[in-house]
Amino acid sequence: MDGSSGREPGFRDSVDLMFNRAAALMDLPPGLEEKIRVCNSTYVVRFGVKLRGRITTFTGYRSVHSEHMEPVKGGIRYALSVNQDEVEALAALMTYKCALVEAPFGGSKGGLCIDPRAWEEDELERITRRFAYELAKRDLINPSQNVPAPDMGTGEREMAWIADQYRRMNTTDINANACVTGKPIHAGGIQGRVEATGRGVQYALQEFFRHPEDMAEAGLTGSLDGKRVVVQGLGNVGYHAALFLSQEDGAKIVGVIEHDGAVVREAGLDIPSLRSWIVNHGGVRGYPDATFVENGASVLENDCDILIPAAMEGVINLSNAERIRAPLIIEAANGPVTAGADDVLRKRGTVIIPDMYANAGGVTVSYFEWVKNLSHIRFGRMQRRQEESWHRLIVDELERLSADKGLGWTLSPGFKERYLKGAGELELVRSGLDDTMRGAYQAMRQVWHERDDVSDLRTAAYLVSIARVAASYRAKGL
Ligand code: GLU
Repeated sequence: MDGSSGREPGFRDSVDLMFNRAAALMDLPPGLEEKIRVCNSTYVVRFGVKLRGRITTFTGYRSVHSEHMEPVKGGIRYALSVNQDEVEALAALMTYKCALVEAPFGGSKGGLCIDPRAWEEDELERITRRFAYELAKRDLINPSQNVPAPDMGTGEREMAWIADQYRRMNTTDINANACVTGKPIHAGGIQGRVEATGRGVQYALQEFFRHPEDMAEAGLTGSLDGKRVVVQGLGNVGYHAALFLSQEDGAKIVGVIEHDGAVVREAGLDIPSLRSWIVNHGGVRGYPDATFVENGASVLENDCDILIPAAMEGVINLSNAERIRAPLIIEAANGPVTAGADDVLRKRGTVIIPDMYANAGGVTVSYFEWVKNLSHIRFGRMQRRQEESWHRLIVDELERLSADKGLGWTLSPGFKERYLKGAGELELVRSGLDDTMRGAYQAMRQVWHERDDVSDLRTAAYLVSIARVAASYRAKGL
């Protein structure tokens, strides 16, 4: 299956086209370009599960794109639309994403053709455990080889089942918990993972808005405060991005597109109330505080400052690219803009913050979770003691100086308590994610501004990523 439709190539070809455009600007040793681009392997499994009195056969995939670093990393998607082309494209994006944010992993991705809403929880558990068994027995789930995570249609619950299944199959593996990330906190997870991808989108935008030169490329000025935003998809990623941007940065979410249509409200939508409406009613139709738009996808073309596609690949394509009015697009989903649409938008001067950077918050915090599992200690548990003793020295010194000089300074009890307590796991995760998003953006923007032959952030991101993957191949040999 090549996944192509009409005039446009399929998802994997689309990713390859973007890769090729960047690789053509590099001076890679002969053959290395192809070695990096191709997907190393894709395992296809068909397995039967006895459900509701009959055997149902499911098709699943786990694709490994690049093993220049191991383990390889990437989510497992549950959707009826999952296919080999999609899983391979997503695995390739994982390679580039991990390289860009310096998470020491190769790229992988998995998927199961299933409509998760069609099954009860206990049925989903049996299906997931069986799928996990099939993958784990081929080392496609393994703390040192291949570490899955949530993606569309999966979450903490599925990750807990996968971890437990792996543990049952590997009872002597002391690192069994590190076989998958995105687990619930009480099953070896880490604080801040659920919202990590949405948080990363927020940090990415905050960093973009710290650079007036970059904002000028999109014709934007000022700050995120008051910016008009359209979000497609109020799932885990879109919801958290919209929530943080509206509640913490003052952005106005003027449109939300869902599978059954869209809602728009110029004064800004209330994201928590819209989310609970969707959970209770299965879609946005009928939401009382906004105008409903039957043709949801048309709202992608609405006038706004920032467009956040946070649902599926290929939603901005040759059929609508010309009509997209947002000057800034941040790709919270993987591959929402096709290679063809990317050409159109680039020529028109639309700034696109590319997927491999924009949604890398998830894998970044997955990396922290994996390290936490391997070290068998919660972040902050030891640092806190050390910090506390340093902080106590500073506090004592300040108070001593003040007494010596007769200044009469006293530290407020609130400050003293917070300062002495030091940072807990959530603060460490957030600051680590923020640092990562800032650092990766700066690496990208440097290439974007310094090279005359690079006119967009996506090409810049590929250049940074490919150079890092190539360096790792060169260092290790093939
Ligand atoms: N599925 C997420 C992604 O596409 C997270 C992957 C991970 O944490 O390994 O980046």
